[in-house]
Parts: sequence; structure tokens; C-alpha cells
Amino acid sequence: MNAEIIEPGSVLGVLGGGQLGAMFTMAARRLGYHVAVWDPDPEAPAHRVSTHSFPVSFNDHDSFERFVDLVSVVTYEWENIPVALCRALEQRKPVRPSSAVLSVIQDRLDQKWFLASNGFPVPPFADLTIPDQLAATVQQVGYPALCKTAMAGYDGKGQWKILRESDLPGVERALSESIRPGIRWIVESLVPFERELSILVVRGSDGQSITYPLVENEHEEGILRTTKVPAPESLAVAQRAAALACQVADRLDGVGVFCLELFQLQSGELLINEVAPRPHNSGHYTIDACSVSQFEQQVRVTCGMPRGEVRLLSPSVMVNLIGNDAATLTKGGGSRALLDIPGAVLHLYGKHTIRPRRKMGHVTFLGETLSLALDHAKQFCDSLENRSTRST
Ligand code: AMP
Repeated sequence: MNAEIIEPGSVLGVLGGGQLGAMFTMAARRLGYHVAVWDPDPEAPAHRVSTHSFPVSFNDHDSFERFVDLVSVVTYEWENIPVALCRALEQRKPVRPSSAVLSVIQDRLDQKWFLASNGFPVPPFADLTIPDQLAATVQQVGYPALCKTAMAGYDGKGQWKILRESDLPGVERALSESIRPGIRWIVESLVPFERELSILVVRGSDGQSITYPLVENEHEEGILRTTKVPAPESLAVAQRAAALACQVADRLDGVGVFCLELFQLQSGELLINEVAPRPHNSGHYTIDACSVSQFEQQVRVTCGMPRGEVRLLSPSVMVNLIGNDAATLTKGGGSRALLDIPGAVLHLYGKHTIRPRRKMGHVTFLGETLSLALDHAKQFCDSLENRSTRST
């Protein structure tokens, strides 16, 4: 069934005001929409680019009433938004993706059960509710394993590696220290993947989907560092990833932009690590390198508009600026040197507080070939490392 079309000039509501919310807001405003950003943190980047700002708790009743009266439709920029809030909003205005999709995805265990029970390939996993059951649970999936909090973990936060039996006591202690009512963990087999990949799928309310090219990701300490697009040497793998992405979005009956994070095994087999119900860091290249960005797609499908073309205009490499990187870059002529590199496009998120592991910005390097983009990205990363060594 086609949803009602929300025309430019309307107010779109977005829950969460981080960089993903800010990039959504900028895409929406370019298309002539107004955007109400609701994020309890007054410093959240999206407030600065919004037309209406709600820097208040998600439990604030008066704000709920003002927000819901103001907006024509609601979306969110990350999956740790309270499901209860989405359900309440949904009684009054469309929420895309729906609260039902959010509730399946928000909890890593529910998400993995959903994927596994629908026949999608995932690493072996088991659930854990009592820390002293850790040894028995790891036995179910085998060594080496990874234990993750079921809720609110991201970018490798709330994760413990268990490579051998002697790691058990330390991890058990850490779990006991973080215990609170209702907490659960997922214990997964630590997959010996050959590489990490991801793919974006855009699904509209007509049930039709379109996928972006498959990309290859490199992580450092559980956090995304680099994305290469298109993923090298991967036509057959890319076709399988695209089919998987469309099937998952269909099974969820989701309306929005979704990202599948994938592990490619040596055999070529793909396993799903996780699904995000929103634009993804590994899709930031789409802003500079595609005919329509992932954020514009989020605006389009949220508003019942046609999906946009996903054509890749240029091979590219995206490098995240994490923690001190942005400060290192902006000191002593670093940004000037960066902007001198052909094809470099700089995005700084304007976050005031630098914290280790915090995503502060990213750079997309566009090149006539992927190899040229990689050379330029390497030149940049080397100079960043030199500057950082000199300043310590
Ligand atoms: P996540 O927070 O689940 O996206 O995990 C962050 C990163 O940790 C992933 O991108 C992988 O590099 C690594 N990781 C997560 N789960 C696994 C797993 N089951 N096996 C191997 N590496 C993993």
C-alpha cells in the first residue's frame, strides 16, 4: 500500500541529534522540509541545523505533545531510542521505520533470533542472563567467543573477547559489575572473517527496495576506521549481499534505510553481524560519491517519495576522524594540507567535547580509480599519524 506523501514545507521529526541526525536534517532542509530534532543533549550537532529544537528528556510529556503536534512524520537516527516513545508517537503520526522494526533490532538477542529463525546466516550465538553461566554458555558456541551486552552497545562498547578458558574469570567479573535488572548478554562465536563488508538497502512503503554498492570496511578496536567503495573483486559476493539485504528488509517489512554489516568467510560465505535501521557510517561516502545520498533516501522514503537513484559517481575511500584526530588535523595547517589533496572532502561534526573513540568527523577521498583514492587516503592517514606523534 502506498503511504500518504508528505510534501516539502512540512515538518519532519527526528529522534536523536548526533551526526546522523544532522546529516539527515541537512538533506531534508535542502529538499525544502523543516526538521524538529529531539535529543536530550543540547550540544548534539543536529540541534544547530534544525528548524525546531527539543533539547529535553525523551520522557518529557509537554515536549511530547508539542513535538507530535508539530511534525507530519517521525524517523530516528539510531536504534537506542526508547521503543515506548516510538509506540506513543505512532498512535498519532507515522513513524518510519515502525516501532515494531525498532523493537526487533534494538536488542541484539532479539535481532539475532529474528534473523536466525528466518533462515538468515548469522554466527553461532547463545543468550546469557546470569554471569556465572558464562562458561557453560561459551561451551555452546565454542572458543574463541565474544560476549556483548544485548542492549545499548555500539562501536565495540560493552564487548569482551573470550579467547581461552583463562579469560573467563575476568569477563565474569566485568559482567557482574555491570549487572542491573533485566540485563542480558549475547555470546557469539568470534568469526575468523576474511573481511568485513556492508550494504545499504532503501525500502519504500510500496515494498520495493534498492541497494547501494557493496563496501569493504576496516575497524580498529571495534570502531569503523575506513570504508572502500566499491568493495574490491566481489561481483558474486555483491549480488548475494544485495539479495540478503532486500530479503531482510522485506522480512522486517521495514520502510527506511537499512544497513547490513557482514562478515565474509574464507569460503566466500556471508554472515550477518548486525542490521541498522538507519543510515550508517559506512554509507557516508554516498553524500559525495553518489547521485542521491543515504540521508536523502531516508528523507524520501520517510515522506513517501520515490527512492532516488543510487549510482556511484566515483570510487571512493572514507576515513573516520576519531577522538583527537580532528584536533590534530585542525592544528598547524593540517586541514589546509588535507584540502590540498585532490578529491578530498572534509566533514567535521562540530562536537565540542573530544573523547577517545568519539566520531568527530570524516573525510571522503574521491578518485578516478579506487587505487588512486586509496593512495590519497593513505597519504592523509600517514600525515595525521606524523602530526599526532609530533604533538605528543
Ligand atoms: P558490533 O558492535 O557488533 O558491530 O561489533 C563491532 C566490531 O567487532 C565488528 O565490526 C567486528 O569487527 C567485531 N565483531 C563483532 N562481532 C564479531 C564476531 N562475532 N566475530 C568477530 N568479530 C566480531
